[in-house]
Amino acid sequence: MEIRNQIKFFSELLAKYNCRLVAVSKTHPVGSIREAYDAGQRIFGENKVQEMMEKQPLLPADIQWHLIGHLQTNKVKYIAPYVALIHSVDSAKLLEEINKQAKKVNRVIECLFQIYIAKEETKFGFDEEELLAYIQSDEFKNLSSIKIIGLMGMATFTDNKEQVRNEFHSLKNLFDKIQKMNLSSNIEMKELSMGMTQDYQMAMEEGSTLVRIGTAIFGTRN
Ligand SMILES: *Cc1c(COP(=O)(O)O)cnc(C)c1O
Repeated sequence: MEIRNQIKFFSELLAKYNCRLVAVSKTHPVGSIREAYDAGQRIFGENKVQEMMEKQPLLPADIQWHLIGHLQTNKVKYIAPYVALIHSVDSAKLLEEINKQAKKVNRVIECLFQIYIAKEETKFGFDEEELLAYIQSDEFKNLSSIKIIGLMGMATFTDNKEQVRNEFHSLKNLFDKIQKMNLSSNIEMKELSMGMTQDYQMAMEEGSTLVRIGTAIFGTRN
């Protein structure tokens, strides 16, 4: 499997859905990222701060680095100067820390709320009710160094296609619902991050604007 060909394949497919590709490069070497970059890919996703920090200085400055994995509050400061989008905001406490670190480096950091959509034990994410209350609170409205630009979700890891489709569909419904609400200026629903190697086709059909694909581009991880 050639990285260049895979980037080309996804660029053409995603264009039909008005969707963009986050090339998930976790565990893969900078040489592989460089290959994808040379094929025109600019958005890369990493799930660990440490790994992003090691790779970022070795690669072109116009790469947009997306953090897609669980983020610990004590690590936000390391990526605040350059991270382009944080997909995995799963608590108010974390968002407050991102706001604080963004202010320090004079940036407004774009973020997505991670929503709990899977019917399986996952530790991270907001549920719908909790999120709706939070985005209407003064506590949230006062965060001026972050901007929420959408939602992220992960479907259940299962072969049951019907279930996966329902989970994506419910995330899109929540996205549409929030989009219609009259909220503060630090939130605007533009991006819906859903779909991975296993389920990207269905995610795009259900309205994804950002698919996060690793294995289908870079091969399997050890
Ligand atoms: C690893 C990862 C992906 C990509 O998974 P693949 O199955 O390799 O495409 C997407 N999203 C998150 C949050 C990940 O951790």
